[in-house]
Amino acid sequence: MSENVIQQKLFDAKKIKEDFPIFRNNPDLVFLDNASTTQKPQSVIDTLSHYYENYNSNIHRGIYQIAEKATAAYEKSRDKVTKFIGAGDRRSIVFTKGTTESINLVANSWGGQNLKPGDEVLITEMEHHSNIIPWQLICERTGADLKYIPINEDGTLDLSNPDKYFKNKTKIVCVIHQSNVFGTVNPITEIVKYAHEVGALVLVDGAQSTPHHRVNVTELNCDFFAFSGHKMMGPTGVGVLYTKPEILEAMNPFLGGGEMIRKVTLEGSTWNDIPWKFEAGTPNIAQVIGFGSAIDYINKIGRDTITDYENELLKYAQEKLQTIPGINIYGTAKDKGAVISFNLENIHPHDVAHILDTYGIAIRAGHHCAQPIMKKLNVAATNRASFYIYNTLAEIDQLAEGLRKTVELFN
Ligand code: PMP
Repeated sequence: MSENVIQQKLFDAKKIKEDFPIFRNNPDLVFLDNASTTQKPQSVIDTLSHYYENYNSNIHRGIYQIAEKATAAYEKSRDKVTKFIGAGDRRSIVFTKGTTESINLVANSWGGQNLKPGDEVLITEMEHHSNIIPWQLICERTGADLKYIPINEDGTLDLSNPDKYFKNKTKIVCVIHQSNVFGTVNPITEIVKYAHEVGALVLVDGAQSTPHHRVNVTELNCDFFAFSGHKMMGPTGVGVLYTKPEILEAMNPFLGGGEMIRKVTLEGSTWNDIPWKFEAGTPNIAQVIGFGSAIDYINKIGRDTITDYENELLKYAQEKLQTIPGINIYGTAKDKGAVISFNLENIHPHDVAHILDTYGIAIRAGHHCAQPIMKKLNVAATNRASFYIYNTLAEIDQLAEGLRKTVELFN
């Protein structure tokens, strides 16, 4: 599909780009590292400065107007998130620093309370380190065993033998929704079904899915869902942990301090209601409010439009990149987000990224915080181009051209 046809059918990415000051300030920048973090529209940046310039104050405690305004804006973001992911109950939404903190919260609080020797935690070989390390740490602490669902050559999960992995001993299953390396979108509903059949809970790492696809946690029926604001055009320092309220209610606090208590005495303390029981200390107020603004921005464009447009970008990029001599693309799942990991034969990924940078093209080179995948692929690192709504077909042409020149340089 040509750029014009996409514009008529979906929207004009070049126009969308005008909403992002970074592209005005770096007119030649081709930003293709969106799986790592995303650029921020003017509306999100303005929301942050508006808060600091007009009603900066701590929340949930000040008995004065600007504090009440800040509290209301912060809590409004919780309502926006609740609706955005189809949670149904705002008490399910805990604001954290990001996906990493959300998963650590579950591992420490739920895991510390519920895991014991002989239990199994089931994750997959496809996980980001942030969905591996917290489980390694808590398994070490509690004596539970950590098991892994393997991956197939095409970058999908090997779910051909569920009985081998989903067992009565399995207490929690933690799985990445969309792979940050392969782009694979995993069959969460099927995994939830297997897990619930054996009485295990399910945590979904939605860091890469939530920015790009419609997510409905009630339909997924997962027990925990974690994601980050900065990967969906929001500020850094804010993320979300969704938990079914009855599960969250039964969990011990993760961090202790101000805000999360009801009554403190020298002998002991009692806890605030959920979700505040899990929001100790002064939260990232500006960032949470800014995150609400990012959700507004996404809603304005429309999530289906984003997904459809990115599918077009992915299709186009795959076709273009396949014509590069010596390219090896990792991850060919049918259900796949707009992420392409690849290597060029005999050229180190860091060299590729460095040369592309000289043409103004920013892609990622490295292990993508997924060293077990690198081991499986038998490579030290890969290149990765990942797309978002402000990317254009012309930028994909530039990427392909840059790669072609890189190959020529090395041959
Ligand atoms: N999970 C996945 C799949 C990711 O891609 C990332 C970020 N690269 C994370 C978790 C961690 O997110 P954050 O650094 O925002 O906590």
